[in-house]
This record gives sequence, structure tokens and C-alpha cells, in this order.
Amino acid sequence: MKEIISRVWRAIIEFSLIEADDRILIGLSGGKDSLFLTYMLAHIRRHSARPFSLGAFTIDTRFGETFPQQELQNFCDQLDIPFDSTIVDIPRAIAQAKVPDPCATCAYFRRGALNRIAGERGYNKVALAHHHDDAVETFMMGLFYAGRLKTFLPKTPQERSGLTIIRPLVYFREREIIENANQLGLQPLKNPCPYNGNTKRQEIKEMLSNLEAKDPEYYRRFSAAMRSGESAELWPAEPDRYTLKGRYLDFRGYDKNTQQR
Ligand code: SF4
Repeated sequence: MKEIISRVWRAIIEFSLIEADDRILIGLSGGKDSLFLTYMLAHIRRHSARPFSLGAFTIDTRFGETFPQQELQNFCDQLDIPFDSTIVDIPRAIAQAKVPDPCATCAYFRRGALNRIAGERGYNKVALAHHHDDAVETFMMGLFYAGRLKTFLPKTPQERSGLTIIRPLVYFREREIIENANQLGLQPLKNPCPYNGNTKRQEIKEMLSNLEAKDPEYYRRFSAAMRSGESAELWPAEPDRYTLKGRYLDFRGYDKNTQQR
């Protein structure tokens, strides 16, 4: 347990995730990751010299027929964390959306609802349960599907909402969370979403898992590439065609305006 807690502390301290008097709203879906996050933050709150408060909030996505309100309420009561929930009809949002990716629509609406609730109820931070595998998968998805080097940050201040998103589990591998959640007796709820396990993220997850099975160093290297710093040696950004044409004319000795020598 000591080693697990120190991993959460490491993220909190390295990325300055929590300050005194923070009011933090935890996005609690009821899955293993968010249960583990809620449990860990309740522990940190008990042992921190900086006082901060916690709340937990669940978006009922309407994917399942029944919403396990009471189970989540009981879990939060045990940890002395106020709990609440709201309904966001994600299947309808996906059916009406123009984008073909259901997960993008789902994430957009869930994030929007959570941030709105946090703002309305006076929270200044939202804690999400993204872990290290999520970060590496997001990094690889950016590379494979969008041609860019980008992933989420452990701490993201949002200009528009004034909220800061924090991710205290970034130093945990997914398998470690599963193992620890089991040992702690946490009981994750089943994800009723029909898209679960059938997404682009799942493809990347399986690809990474296959590579790691061949050589564990692959994962470590992808993880290292996520860090900014001297290891990055990238081409400069591609210039637009006007800039390029200007440089060409200049090189050939033409006047850029008249295009005459
Ligand atoms: S798998 Fe389902 S619940 Fe998860 S982001 Fe995609 S649509 Fe939403």
C-alpha cells in the first residue's frame, strides 16, 4: 500500500496537482479506474498537511437500463465524500452527432456536463482517472490517426471554464490499477456501453500490448517519447505555400511583389 500511495504522491508533487483549499470534483464512472482514484484521493486527503475538499459526480449516460446510484452513493459514503449524479442522454447525442466517432461525441458531452456541474457548485478542479496506459495510447492515437505528437497532460488549466483538470493516476499502469482495485476489494461496475472494446483506442491498446509482449522496452520507449525535452528532434513546421513561394522567388533573385528580376 505504501508504494501505491507514494505513486499518487509523486504525481501530485511533480505536477503540482493539489494546493491548499482546493475543491476537487472527481469524475466517478464506477469503473475500476475512477473507484481507485476516489479511494486514493480520500486517503491522500486524510494524510495531507494541505487541507482540500472532495466531491464525486457521476454522469448517467443512459447506456444501461438501470443506473447503480445506490452502489455509488454507498461507496462515497464510506469514504465521506459527497456524491451526486445527473443524466446525459449519450445514445441520443451519438445518434444526432455529425461526427462518425461515438467516443468523441460521448467524451465531449460527458466532459461538458462534468465541467458545468463543477463550475456551478464552486469546485476549482476536476480529477479524472486517466492512467499511464491511457496517456501512451492517446499519444499513439495522435500519431497514427491525426499525424501529430500530442497527449493529455497530468494537469490542464482550462482558460474558458477557469477549472483545472488533474490526473493523479498518471504513474499507474492499467494492470496495476486492476490488481490494486482487486486487493482493496473495490467492485467496478460493468460498462454497459455497446462501443466498449470496439474502438480505435482498443485497436491501439491491442497493438501496444502485442509489441510489449515481444519486448517490454517498446512501451518504455513510447512513454519516453511523450516527454518534451532534448530527445525531440523534429522537422520545422511545414510553411504555407505563399511563404514557400516567397522564399523560392527570393532564392531565384525575383522581386516578391512584381515577380520580376
Ligand atoms: S466506449 Fe462508450 S462510454 Fe467509452 S467513450 Fe466510447 S462511447 Fe463513451
